[in-house]
Amino acid sequence: MPFTALGLAPALARAAAELGFSSPTPVQSEAIPAVLAGVDLLATAQTGSGKTAAYALPLLQRLLAAEPLTPRRVRALVLVPTRELAAQAGEVVRSLAQHLPQRPKVAVVFGGVSINPQMMALRGGADVVVATPGRLLDLVEHNALRLSGVELLVLDEADRLLDLGFADELARVLALLPAQRQNLFFSATFPPEVQALADALLHEPTRIELPTVATEDAVILQQAYLVDSTRRTQLLRQLIKSQGWQRVLVFVATQYAAERVASKLHHGDLYATSFHGGLSQGARQQALGEFKEKRWDVVVTTDLAARGIDISQLPVVVNYDLPRSAVDYVHRIGRTGRAGASGLAVSFVSPATEAHWRLIEKRQGLSLPLEVLPGFEPTEAAPSPSPGNGGIKGKRPSKKDKLRAAAQQGGQGD
Ligand code: AMP
Repeated sequence: MPFTALGLAPALARAAAELGFSSPTPVQSEAIPAVLAGVDLLATAQTGSGKTAAYALPLLQRLLAAEPLTPRRVRALVLVPTRELAAQAGEVVRSLAQHLPQRPKVAVVFGGVSINPQMMALRGGADVVVATPGRLLDLVEHNALRLSGVELLVLDEADRLLDLGFADELARVLALLPAQRQNLFFSATFPPEVQALADALLHEPTRIELPTVATEDAVILQQAYLVDSTRRTQLLRQLIKSQGWQRVLVFVATQYAAERVASKLHHGDLYATSFHGGLSQGARQQALGEFKEKRWDVVVTTDLAARGIDISQLPVVVNYDLPRSAVDYVHRIGRTGRAGASGLAVSFVSPATEAHWRLIEKRQGLSLPLEVLPGFEPTEAAPSPSPGNGGIKGKRPSKKDKLRAAAQQGGQGD
């Protein structure tokens, strides 16, 4: 089905085709007509499903009928949790708008960089602002933009916005918006606080629920290797070489581990670098840009890269340290197998983290054989189960406690 069949203007369909989008993804087929009809939207959608274009295309179409810009007035506001996602979503909106007869002005604002260029960019108004909440509020305080004219609000990765502690900033932004507006709410997961926000924000929304990308998507092959924690770097190097993996995203538990594992791989003969929140914004953008340009074989990262970052055709994701939770597992492995391409997600399980892995498997409804690569037979002993506490009610370790304990063990090793 062509994009125009969903009611989109040919100029938008043409821009989509130039990005390689010949037909809509499932979330796009459902979201685009609903947004064009002007209703609120509540979509369960992962990064990788094509959700950015699912809101960007109809949002641009709605701006087509725009009156001239009013200074400092914003017509569409897209709130995102991270700088990288802001830059990425802004880029998609701009690319999709390129053939419109009257090109809308798109401003991208996020913290961690100087505010002045962003204030300059907002001079004379912007049709679309893609923003992280904190910097947006700074700009409002500097009187660089006004939110009272927002007709369309997009919350992209609402769960992540709340996870990152943006609840207060969000509430302050929402208070600045006019009551009459269209709201589009995208989230990969719906824990109670996200659901409460959706309930407060949305008016009789159209719901779109797609299967979570990772586990129900057969195009991501999942594997688990049992290996001593001290031999994981060796195993990783061996797999990269023997399987001919290219462009591998490796997840570890800490920034320190990201540096250490990247440097060990780099001192072998692999082009490896790290990407984490301890790096400057410039270094983060450079690492990501170079990875996208295929200049690095391996990027070792923390959960910072688990959500929102779109690197198309990322073939392999490795959980060097296991994620803390099953939800994090879904986000991490969702970095591969994007928009229908096939991908491989490999998890390293050590004797000490096996119990934690079993919990993730159970939560995911998975049952993967624990493979052992010849030459990497594990020798470490599994920790003995922690002694009971005599069955005192309320004092038994909860599943969360167990996950936490296992994740702590997972962060150690070579
Ligand atoms: P998103 O979920 O917005 O992060 O998009 C995930 C990936 O899917 C990005 O690399 C997009 O370029 C790609 N994509 C989005 N829509 C389509 C489409 N209709 N056809 C093919 N690829 C798409």
